[in-house]
Amino acid sequence: MSSSDIIHTGGCFCKAVRYQVTGKPVTSAYCHCTLCQRLQGAAFISTLHFSASNFSWTHSEPHDAALDVFEVTSKPWKKRRRCKNCGCTVASYNSKSELWSVWGTQFDRDEDGKIKGWDTIKPTAHIFYETRLLDVQDDLGKWTGYESKSERIA
Ligand SMILES: [Zn+2]
Ligand SMILES: [Zn+2]
Repeated sequence: MSSSDIIHTGGCFCKAVRYQVTGKPVTSAYCHCTLCQRLQGAAFISTLHFSASNFSWTHSEPHDAALDVFEVTSKPWKKRRRCKNCGCTVASYNSKSELWSVWGTQFDRDEDGKIKGWDTIKPTAHIFYETRLLDVQDDLGKWTGYESKSERIA
């Protein structure tokens, strides 16, 4: 199996919105930035970026009928999609980088509650670590910004 054969499926809590991504993510990291913290209501999140050609909606068409689109004023180039029914934010598209963001927590799980195929996409770093709410003791690098594009601080 080549990496382009890897398919992960996921979606919102109520399953009205569904998507799939193929291949390896461009980025997979735990993000500790204040925007992710506030938007997602979590201390940090598992964020994955995929090229536009590797992301697609799979719920019934027209896809936009199930989705609200919103943006944060400080980052208008990022269009965020949430399910109109359950309110879950499920993906965002960055028109500068031409990448889709999705979140590791929303991929489909096996009967034990584990993300299917997690080993192929799991995070490789902690990013925007300076604004963390807690210290994380693991072997992954800790960066002030994006992995390998900022200062490594641990
Ligand atoms: Zn939903
Ligand atoms: Zn973030």
